[in-house]
Amino acid sequence: MINSKIGARIAEIVGKENVALDKETRVCYSYDATNIKYLPDGIVFLNSAQQISEIVKLANEHRFPVIPRGAGTGFTGGSLPVEGGLILVLTKMNKILQIDTENLIAIVEPGVVTAELQKEVEKLGLFYPPDPASLKSSTLGGNVAECAGGMRAVKYGVTKDYVMGLEVVLPTGEIVTTGGKTVKESSATI
Ligand SMILES: Cc1cc2nc3c(=O)[nH]c(=O)nc-3n(C[C@H](O)[C@H](O)[C@H](O)COP(=O)(O)OP(=O)(O)OC[C@H]3O[C@@H](n4cnc5c(N)ncnc54)[C@H](O)[C@@H]3O)c2cc1C
Repeated sequence: MINSKIGARIAEIVGKENVALDKETRVCYSYDATNIKYLPDGIVFLNSAQQISEIVKLANEHRFPVIPRGAGTGFTGGSLPVEGGLILVLTKMNKILQIDTENLIAIVEPGVVTAELQKEVEKLGLFYPPDPASLKSSTLGGNVAECAGGMRAVKYGVTKDYVMGLEVVLPTGEIVTTGGKTVKESSATI
């Protein structure tokens, strides 16, 4: 349960404009494409991995569930707060940080909309194949979590075939990175 005291702690981490405990906002984040509804206790809009880490540590301290959410187009119910808790909305983390044309990789934040990455790489003559039919609204973070694919999967594979590395916030709040710019990456980091 997220009471006003915990709400104030969340606001200290992300700024009060990025927390919502009112019912109207909670209803907006109570369902995904399944249209099944579970009312969350609160909504937080994140801007960095560090903020996510601090929120996860707070959740551990006060034992409330946290549920990551991109665009909410998933059909698995993965972003639903089945046991209540705090929705971690990642759509504000929507920057394409780098398109490396030599290594043919992009470094992106999780809230980048799939079609946006496709559009930006195509300007450079490159191609990002995964094309779920939701691509104009789904986020890359959601695509990774769901291993999304589309019509082009038959020839080019699905999202997992295009993930070279990840920055991950573990359930403890620890931030770890995996992989990197090259297929074999045993010593270097991004
Ligand atoms: C109209 C429509 C068409 C679709 N077409 C396809 C299709 O062709 N192929 C296909 O594979 N799927 C399709 N989907 C489902 C597809 O899985 C999702 O659209 C997309 O991958 C989910 O992205 P999202 O940003 O909406 O994620 P959400 O629905 O918000 O979340 C999905 C899951 O990802 C988790 N998640 C989200 N962001 C993060 C993050 N940054 N870190 C950790 N976990 C995270 C959530 O907790 C949840 O478990 C379609 C859905 C719709 C509504």
